[in-house]
Amino acid sequence: MNLADKLTQEEYKKNFEELVSPFTNNSAVAEANRCLYCYDSPCMKACPTHIDISTFIKKIATGNLLGSAKTIFDSNWIALTCAKSCPVEVLCEGACVYVEKGEKPIEIGRLQRFAIDNYFSSGMPKLFNAKPKNGKSVGIIGSGPASLACGAELSLLGYDVQIYESNEVPGGLSTWGIAPYKMSKADSLKEVEMIKGLGVNIQTGVTVGESISVKELFNKHDALFIGIGLGESGRLSIPGEDLEGVIGALKFIENVKEENWSSVNVGRHVAVIGAGNTSIDAATEAKRLGAEEVIIVYRRSESEMPANDWEYRLAKDDGIIFRFLTSPIEIIGNKSVESIKCTKNKLGEPDKQGRKKPVPIPNSEFIIPVDMVIYALGQQPKLKFINSIPDLKIESNKVLVNNVTFQTSNPKVFAGGDCINGGKEVVNAAYDGKQAAYGIDKFLNS
Ligand code: SF4
Repeated sequence: MNLADKLTQEEYKKNFEELVSPFTNNSAVAEANRCLYCYDSPCMKACPTHIDISTFIKKIATGNLLGSAKTIFDSNWIALTCAKSCPVEVLCEGACVYVEKGEKPIEIGRLQRFAIDNYFSSGMPKLFNAKPKNGKSVGIIGSGPASLACGAELSLLGYDVQIYESNEVPGGLSTWGIAPYKMSKADSLKEVEMIKGLGVNIQTGVTVGESISVKELFNKHDALFIGIGLGESGRLSIPGEDLEGVIGALKFIENVKEENWSSVNVGRHVAVIGAGNTSIDAATEAKRLGAEEVIIVYRRSESEMPANDWEYRLAKDDGIIFRFLTSPIEIIGNKSVESIKCTKNKLGEPDKQGRKKPVPIPNSEFIIPVDMVIYALGQQPKLKFINSIPDLKIESNKVLVNNVTFQTSNPKVFAGGDCINGGKEVVNAAYDGKQAAYGIDKFLNS
């Protein structure tokens, strides 16, 4: 069902090339020399993994690039993904002292990328020595950022680490969920290779609960870590959502990440339901695949939309149309999507989270002609799997953990990333995984 005009390979390549270009050596050193090496490093405090930012920047300024990469990895194993996908303007760069002075902050994300790119292009030399093997084994379920970070740290602590991944290609969200113009699949796989190089074993195509039972994992390993992320977006629950041409945003983004762009199904006129960062990724990707018109339909107003400013600007630059205070009530079509019926909303009283509720305006229905609908209503937890782990407590659809050790209500099980926080940034998952490794080490040695 490819309704948009096909582009040439060159056009696809251009549309999906990375938006942020890498520093040259001279420009990286010049930028590093702008850093004031603040004694209290507000940038470091603002980074969820607390990378020693001023130190890694200083090392770039003095040409010690491997030392710089080591400083970064000391705090964050998922450093390339974070450098390319973190919302730096609200984290490290947002806290840079230059912002207060009304000047451009240090480009911390790009400098981090410079150091890590150099590490990979230098053939990933050994920077860390693992402790001798301690005879204990940890099983990790899922191979996304939290799991990789946990596995890397445990391996250096002397544990045998076995990651179980149901997909044939590892990396989870870093591989499959980040828009290609931010980061390629190949970049994520470099990170996976590095972590394998630390001694972490990754078995792909293995679904826990099918290919191997949860009981077997408990028997095989001294502790388990769950880093399974979240599942697909919640359904729209409106008539017509089973029509051909309706797809979840994550599945759509995953198809785009295959990088076989001419074979991805995309409509000529596309509606994306929801206005979070995932919606924006899906919308801009549809546009870059050749869709003529892409409309984001969001039930609240511009000021309540969850997408960050950078994403919003990108969408507007790509010509995405926003329909605020609008809710879809029906997808219309015979066999495939022909249009969506929507209603206009006004904002009512705040809900439990303090966000004003959208209230439909009577007799305000109208039709938007579209031939594809992508829905991104927030990913759902993988409750079936979570409930298959004995004694695991969940609260508000999140796995409950101790916020220091990341131990769950089942002492032998630890967890981190989106399954415990409901869906935050990769950098939060990188932090959780590393801290959980220390929690597991403490538990197995106490
Ligand atoms: Fe450098 Fe800005 Fe961090 Fe200060 S706050 S150490 S200037 S990056």
